[in-house]
Amino acid sequence: MSFKDLQLNRPILRAIAETGYDEPTLVQEKTIPLVLSKKDVIVSAQTGTGKTASFALPILQLLFDKQDASKKGKKIRALIVSPTRELAIQIGENFKNYSTYTNLTSTAIYGGTSIEPQIDVLKKGVDILIATPGRLLDLHKQDIANLDYIETLVLDEADLMLDMGFVDDVKKIERLCTKEKQILLFSATIPYKVEQLANTILKAPERIEVAPNSSTSKNINQALYYVPKPNKIELCLHLLRNTIKGSTLIFRRTKFGVQKLEQTLLKNGYKVESIHGDKSQNLRQEALKNFKSNHVNILIATDVAARGIDINDLDAVINFDLPNVPETYVHRIGRTARAGNTGASYSFCSADEKNYVKTIQQLIQIQIDVIEDHPYPLDPKEKPIIHKSKKTGSKHKKGRKSEASKKKKKRWY
Ligand code: AMP
Repeated sequence: MSFKDLQLNRPILRAIAETGYDEPTLVQEKTIPLVLSKKDVIVSAQTGTGKTASFALPILQLLFDKQDASKKGKKIRALIVSPTRELAIQIGENFKNYSTYTNLTSTAIYGGTSIEPQIDVLKKGVDILIATPGRLLDLHKQDIANLDYIETLVLDEADLMLDMGFVDDVKKIERLCTKEKQILLFSATIPYKVEQLANTILKAPERIEVAPNSSTSKNINQALYYVPKPNKIELCLHLLRNTIKGSTLIFRRTKFGVQKLEQTLLKNGYKVESIHGDKSQNLRQEALKNFKSNHVNILIATDVAARGIDINDLDAVINFDLPNVPETYVHRIGRTARAGNTGASYSFCSADEKNYVKTIQQLIQIQIDVIEDHPYPLDPKEKPIIHKSKKTGSKHKKGRKSEASKKKKKRWY
């Protein structure tokens, strides 16, 4: 199928061609016709499937067909609600791209950054608004964001939105829009609470499921390292020194973990950036920019911060902490080995994470190669022989440790 078969009009087709897309992805093929026919839709698809264009393109087409000749007095007619700021910015960039040859305008509004410039843009009028829930409600309260003319409402990454505690905000936003609007709900997975939300606000929705990717590319060399938790940092440094080359994304489960690892890598002379929830919006954007432009080649992130963000074409992914949801593993390592390139993934498994390996391997139907030959094995086959000579055990010797070597020891932690 081609984009032309999807009945998209010329200015949009031209922008698509210039972006370099040859044909629609599966989710686009299935979703675009339903959006154009003004149906409510629930789409279960993960980032990387091309889901942004699957709503952005038909929305532009629908608005384009009713495009006012005059630019004056534009009303917001499409609203995209996104859980994270980065995702809002990225969706905004997509809309800008695809609308190049139309008169349609869009803007992204989100918290953590000055509100005034956003007010100025909204006052001038836009057709499409991309927003995080908090900032949107704030600007609505101030009578700046008028939602009375919304024709299409998109809830992107709905499962994450609910996980982040936005359920009441989302319901409120839905009520603030017109009753007649079309609603498109996108979610990586459809857990019960998403289903419940959909039941309360969508009208006879069509369902589209792009099967969660359970297969990992053959081009990814997957390696598994069993390692005691306290030694993960040493193992990471060991691999960065000896094995891993190129742009590397390191996943940690918590913000604290990200910060701790960042400090250690910086102290060891690595150029590193990080993204996590405690960072200001500007710093997160800057970190992403530095990484994408290859100013630094290591980025450390939590899954939540990295979710939905277009960071692909990596040389390596390190699962510093194993994900407890097996699909997350597929998703994380799928960011490497794009477009026929080869990539590598390095997963660290401590004793308490062994069960995660089981569920991941069940999902991907592959036994991940276990690398035993490394300096920090979890169950050393041969216990190192400790010579309890009086000399090495003497207090005197300990007392003579230099300050530098003490510091060196400390800095791992
Ligand atoms: P998304 O799932 O929306 O985050 O998109 C993932 C990546 O796929 C982005 O880098 C898009 O630019 C890209 N993409 C979207 N649609 C297509 C397409 N039809 N052909 C090739 N790449 C695409």
